[in-house]
Amino acid sequence: MPRLSKLSRSIDGRVALVTGAASGMGRATAHLFADEGARVAVVDIVPDGADAVAKEISEAGGQARAWTADVSSLEEIEGLVREVVEAFGGLDILVNNAGINRPGPVDAEDYEEAWSAVLEVNLTAHVRLIRAALPHLEASDAGRVINISSTEGVGAQPFVSAYTAAKHGVIGLTRAMAVELGRRGVTFNCVCPGPIQTAMTAPIPDAAKEKFARRRVPLGRYGDPEEVAHATLGFALPAASYMNGAVLLVDGGLSIQNS
Ligand code: NAD
Repeated sequence: MPRLSKLSRSIDGRVALVTGAASGMGRATAHLFADEGARVAVVDIVPDGADAVAKEISEAGGQARAWTADVSSLEEIEGLVREVVEAFGGLDILVNNAGINRPGPVDAEDYEEAWSAVLEVNLTAHVRLIRAALPHLEASDAGRVINISSTEGVGAQPFVSAYTAAKHGVIGLTRAMAVELGRRGVTFNCVCPGPIQTAMTAPIPDAAKEKFARRRVPLGRYGDPEEVAHATLGFALPAASYMNGAVLLVDGGLSIQNS
């Protein structure tokens, strides 16, 4: 029987750069991509963290190298992309995952500083990495950018206004890039995780997490980082070639439950 399907569901041999890869969803994504045969640039502001994850991956038989970089620095971003391309010979997949939260009321004393920090890491860094990576992604036959937003990118809750504004911005940026750069052969998509068990949510007491999940999440639980990583992998595949500008909620049904 002749094969009708011709698109690849493999990222074997592709080069992927994952930011915020020392912890949580970034770490899970770096591991999953390496398990699938990608060569992974593990990037984080925490030097020991990036090294540790690259080591874990190597020990598991995968290919990874660690880079320490602060994605809120334009200079560091440009140097990082240059070095990754030099080391691996190209760049096919960019996962803009690094993120921080600085909760607080809008009239807090340190609000200006928190706003700037959150916007720099959670939004400005995304577009800077896209700009630095674009020539290399264009040179790939399956250039992919996956931006990590949040359910805070489609809704809001009190006392996280900078984070919410940044995550709404990530969706806007994804759509803007998708329409502006689609013809240049690179796709841009966005994953919006719901409540996930990571370092970011670790300060929330378990009892409060369980109560929230029982009340608000149809699946009745927080998600695991790996469950988000698989959604990110879906957008990274060569076969995901007609997905562009999509916004995928990975939230256990949180955002569609009305009761
Ligand atoms: P995490 O805290 O476990 O991991 C974030 C990583 O980003 C850390 O390793 C941290 O060192 C790194 N990082 C922070 N600032 C950086 C910088 N300036 N430069 C380079 N690296 C930096 O958090 P996580 O929950 O895995 O978050 C990953 C992404 O998912 C973030 O964008 C976050 O906003 C988003 N998100 C998280 C949740 C959740 O419930 N955990 C929900 C929705 C969206």
